[in-house]
Amino acid sequence: MTYEIVPGGAGDLSAAGRVHAESWQDSHRAFCEADFLAAHTPERQARYLADKLARGSRLFLLQTGGRIAGVVTLTGSLIEDLYILPQFQNRGFGTALLRYAIARCDGDPVLWLLENNVRAESLYRREGFAPTGRRSAITSALDEIEYRLIKHTEENDRMSNKDMNCAYCVHGEPLAKFGIYICDLSEMNSLYLFKEQSHPGRVIVAPKEHVGDFTDLTDAQRDLFFADIARVSRALKKVFKPGKVNYGAYNDNGGHLHFHLVPKYRDEFEWGGVFAMNPGRVTLTEAEYAEMIEKIRAAL
Ligand SMILES: [Zn+2]
Repeated sequence: MTYEIVPGGAGDLSAAGRVHAESWQDSHRAFCEADFLAAHTPERQARYLADKLARGSRLFLLQTGGRIAGVVTLTGSLIEDLYILPQFQNRGFGTALLRYAIARCDGDPVLWLLENNVRAESLYRREGFAPTGRRSAITSALDEIEYRLIKHTEENDRMSNKDMNCAYCVHGEPLAKFGIYICDLSEMNSLYLFKEQSHPGRVIVAPKEHVGDFTDLTDAQRDLFFADIARVSRALKKVFKPGKVNYGAYNDNGGHLHFHLVPKYRDEFEWGGVFAMNPGRVTLTEAEYAEMIEKIRAAL
């Protein structure tokens, strides 16, 4: 279905107020009292939008088939009032309006989301938003949560997505304490050899950027992260022929997402049990590490 997104002005307020009221009531019906819902009339929501325009906010309208199907407001870099009429949902209109607003933000886009709004949360996370940790109580039982989108320019990636105390971010000496960089797997992830080699072929996959947990990744990033892990696991199976590959992500102290890939060998060390974080019993010579890295690289 074709659509266009246009700036809204004073002449659009009554139509925009109808869309806002109907969508707002629909999305709040499950957890708001009937009289509170009924108070959000089209006229009241039109006045609310008029007030925002008067204070410098911008209004954008998504139109399709000659009518307004969705609204969003933008105040600086604060995105609010993103509503799509119920009968126009699940067609990508919400994503389109969100991206339109993101492109017009002055700084990093920010929005607030009711903590029980699972559908909107998945949309925002897909687009790269992550919670900032700020919350604000709407009722005694319900909070609003702040989300922020970090725009991925090269400069941003260099300046803000690295933690200078983190071995996976800075490499060098901190990394050399336990690992050796092998190669990049994709634009997102790198592969490291774990120096403790009680389990021959043990490696680590980690994103290049300082990401705390895989729940902080977008769907596409998470897909790529696990695709790279699978690719490495297949290479380990080819080279080392283990009985099983174990996977572990612990990270209590580190704070940089990484997965240990640990080949386990039937009836050998720790077979049938949990692999230790660092058993500290087997290290190799530089030449042996180099040979192992060469074999893994060739099998990727
Ligand atoms: Zn890091």
